[in-house]
Amino acid sequence: MNSDIKTCRVWEREHDRPVYTLASTCPVCGAEAVNSAPAPFDPADPYGEYRRALRARGQR
Ligand SMILES: [Zn+2]
Repeated sequence: MNSDIKTCRVWEREHDRPVYTLASTCPVCGAEAVNSAPAPFDPADPYGEYRRALRARGQR
């Protein structure tokens, strides 16, 4: 079976590196934790636009 390890959904915004957890929320910032596998593109992702904006600016 797949691992249950999840990653903080907003780690790119809140943390310097991915925060992994087995819980359903990030233990650091309390945000939703999502499966650590690469997420499919989700046009409804409220943070997608922010992430794309960061990439467009060439930030890490
Ligand atoms: Zn977090």
